[in-house]
Order: sequence, then C-alpha cells, then structure tokens
Amino acid sequence: MATLQDRLGRSMQDLRISVTDRCNFRCVYCMPKEVFGPSFAFLPRRELLTFEEIARVAKIFAELGVRKIRLTGGEPLVRKDIDTLVQELASIPGIDDLAMTTNGSLLTAERAQKLRSAGLKRVTVSLDSLDDAKFRALNDVGFPVARVLEAIHNAAQAGLTPVKVNMVVKRGANDEDILVMAEHFRGTGHILRFIEYMDVGTANGWRLDDVVQNSKILEQINARWPLEPVAPARPSDVARRFRYTDGAGEIGLIASVSQPFCRDCSRARLSPDGQLFLCLFAQKGYDLRHWLRSGASDDEIEEVVRHIWSGRDVRYSEVRSEKTSGMPKVEMFRIGG
Ligand code: SAM
Ligand code: SF4
Ligand code: SF4
Repeated sequence: MATLQDRLGRSMQDLRISVTDRCNFRCVYCMPKEVFGPSFAFLPRRELLTFEEIARVAKIFAELGVRKIRLTGGEPLVRKDIDTLVQELASIPGIDDLAMTTNGSLLTAERAQKLRSAGLKRVTVSLDSLDDAKFRALNDVGFPVARVLEAIHNAAQAGLTPVKVNMVVKRGANDEDILVMAEHFRGTGHILRFIEYMDVGTANGWRLDDVVQNSKILEQINARWPLEPVAPARPSDVARRFRYTDGAGEIGLIASVSQPFCRDCSRARLSPDGQLFLCLFAQKGYDLRHWLRSGASDDEIEEVVRHIWSGRDVRYSEVRSEKTSGMPKVEMFRIGG
C-alpha cells in the first residue's frame, strides 16, 4: 500500500491522542488560572470519545501508516482506568511505539507498573524546575517537586524507559534553572529535553521575548559539560539530540520557535472530543466523532481521514509572526503537546 502523504509530501506516522481536556495543574504557560478557573466549562462526559471509540480511530490510523501513538492531554492520568485504553492500543497491529506525556502527579509506583503491564513503553514527565517554590508557582496549584521526582523514579523502576523529562523554558520564570536541571539529570539515564515556550492557544499571553532560544541553552550547557550531536532516530523526531562527551547521557532540544521542523512533521492529533487536528497551532479540527457515531464503516472513516491528510499543507511554525501568534488557535490542553 502506498503511504499516505500530504500536499508537502509528509507521511502520517504519529498520532497524539489527547484523552481529556482536564488537568489538576494550572501551569502558567498552558492553563492560566485566571482563564481556567472554577467556572470554566470543560467538556461534558458524553462529548468525550469512549475508549472503544479511541481504539477504533487508532486502528484506522494504523491502517493508514501510523506507527507511534502518544497519549497526552490535559493530564492523561486523570482519566480513570487509562490502562484499559493502553492495553487496547498496544494490541493494534502496526503500532510499535506507545508512550505518554504526563505531569507525573498521579504516577504512583503501582500505576506505573500497571501501565507498563498494559503495554505502555515509555513516559515523558514534565518538570520545569527543581526549585520547589518556583515549581509550585509554575504549576500554580502548589504541587511539590519531590513528588514529580518520585514519579520519574517510579516510571524508571517500572521499565517505562528511557524516561524523558520535559522542561519548558520561559524567560524570567525558570531560565536560571537550566544548568541545575542538566546537572541533576546527568548520569541518571533520563533524557532532559528543553522546550522553547510556544504560542499555543491564546490564553497564555505569549510574547516572543519570553522565548529562550535553544541555541543559547546549548551554548550554556556545552560550556560547562561538552556535548556532541547524536543522529536523529527518525527524520520526523522533533528533538535535536546531544550527548555529553564524558558519557553522562543525552539531552534533547526542541526549538519549535527558533528552528521550526514543519518540513518533516508527520503528526496527526486527536482531541478528547474526536476532532482531528493537523497542526498544534490549528484553528479548526475535523469532526471524526460525527463519523464514529453516525454508523459509518471503518473503510468510510479511513477514506475521510485519507482525504483530510491528503489536503494538508500547514506549516505554522515556519510562517509564525507576531500577526499569526495572535490568531485564534486551539488550546494546548485540548490537543496535547
Ligand atoms: N499534562 C501533561 C504534561 O504536562 O506533561 C500532558 C499535556 S501537556 C499540554 C504536554 C507538554 O506540553 C508538557 O510537557 C508541557 O510542558 C508542554 N507545554 C504546555 N504548554 C506549552 C507551551 N506554551 N509551550 C511549550 N510547551 C508547552
Ligand atoms: Fe496541565 Fe500539562 Fe498543561 Fe500543565 S502543561 S496545565 S500539567 S496539561
Ligand atoms: Fe507540525 Fe504545525 Fe508544529 Fe509545524 S507548527 S511542526 S506543522 S505541528
């Protein structure tokens, strides 16, 4: 079967599934409290895809060439019995990588083990600072660093490895913690990844000045512990990889703003209510739930997705400007990072 390609010749290889729009954190750069307060209307349960519906979509996408699935959110672990979904996804022929991005707050040793047994391969845990006061302020619900470090430990113990640690760097908020974070994770086997603060959604008040360019981070770390580049595992990998020349492991740099990687972007995104998004910065999604709930066959839905992907020509980060960053866009917690 010929691989499905979009208008820029990009094949569809990855599917990111946001399983919920809810989260127990209020990270200032993602779900600022002032906007997502107690009266914010999250999706009602009936609007969410069921696990059966998600698995059905995933099977169709696997037929179309998807090999890698990542569960995200919102916070994926707030969705009850998520290991049931993991088990279903892990059994889909063709899916050879199944991962999850989580804030770690609910990743107990028991839960990590359960997810691993269900077939999850790896987790990425988000952690923006090791300074407890700063981290509590960034997640804005007073969640302590120690419990996220525990989650990272639990993931590693359960074999959800290599554990990746995502640090979103925002100028003035945590850019002084770069070396401390690097030092902490050197030699642990965990891969620390520095992510440029992005203009996803419209709620976070993003400004270009708040972005710390990845090249500056690289210079800083390299001056302290020399680094050398590592070849990407796949062309569509978003992180540029580097390893410490003294053998203390690897880091990743995700320069979504300063060095966009749209040219190789192979990711489709499914929102909790079954909208298909073709880009993290999309203004609209395509309603797959309508097809799922209207009696369409798998073949018919496959054809719909084929049609949508074939028409794809988005490359937001390559054309980003002050003008585009102010345009209406879907929020990150709806389509996952
Ligand atoms: N709640 C989970 C978590 O935080 O890991 C999964 C969803 S979260 C939206 C996925 C990733 O996106 C996290 O690593 C988070 O730090 C990152 N993220 C959120 N808002 C961001 C922004 N404005 N710029 C860059 N990364 C962002
Ligand atoms: Fe929640 Fe993750 Fe967004 Fe933080 S980044 S508010 S943990 S969804
Ligand atoms: Fe892919 Fe859109 Fe990000 Fe470009 S901006 S890499 S097209 S998700």
